[in-house]
Amino acid sequence: MLILLIEDETALREVIVYHLTREGYRLLSLGNANDALIAIEEAPPDLVLLDLMLPGLQGLQFLDIFRQKNKTTPVIIISARNTEDDIIKALEKGADDYLPKPFGLKLLETKIKVALRHKSDASDTNAHESAGVKVELDTHKAFCGEKELTLTQKEYDLLALFLRKPEKVFTRNQLLSMVWGYDSELNSRTVDVHVAMLRKKLGDRGTHVKTIPKIGYLWDPKGAAAR
Ligand code: CA
Repeated sequence: MLILLIEDETALREVIVYHLTREGYRLLSLGNANDALIAIEEAPPDLVLLDLMLPGLQGLQFLDIFRQKNKTTPVIIISARNTEDDIIKALEKGADDYLPKPFGLKLLETKIKVALRHKSDASDTNAHESAGVKVELDTHKAFCGEKELTLTQKEYDLLALFLRKPEKVFTRNQLLSMVWGYDSELNSRTVDVHVAMLRKKLGDRGTHVKTIPKIGYLWDPKGAAAR
């Protein structure tokens, strides 16, 4: 697995490279995003660790360009900028996860593992399943345990998104544009209403749809302490 690390703080870069190399990852580490644009052409990474404040091209600008070419490779933001707005902005631009500095290396490694696992899960199959809930993309059916669910189109789309990327935080605006389309004149309250209906139809398993206060929702396979 090749990880592209874009981070201008030399000391932090070296610590991350040292740790992840020892854990068996291959690392390509760069101090700016301009060089990274060239590097991704020559050696496409399996995952990107991206600092936001960089000399030259900024992290979010890099993310924009990267996502135009590549929709699936996980990108994890590592940044000292950690306000709610910063996090939402990065997620909406297509980051998969956000790790505020300072962070522990164990947590970084866990987030890398989770992101890579989702990537491999999503690539092969025509069904997505988590915690006993399943959507079949071919037949357009959804199941809760053995029981087939009766869902509206929007509820089905929401569930399919969640199950495709468990533990990924979706902002309300993301869900709105992915399920209802960019032209939608609906507001984020619509998302809340449909998520509430979906939860209800999932019964006990509704607790897997977890609210991230002020940001949005995610599918939590453990489902504990939801909401
Ligand atoms: Ca920086």
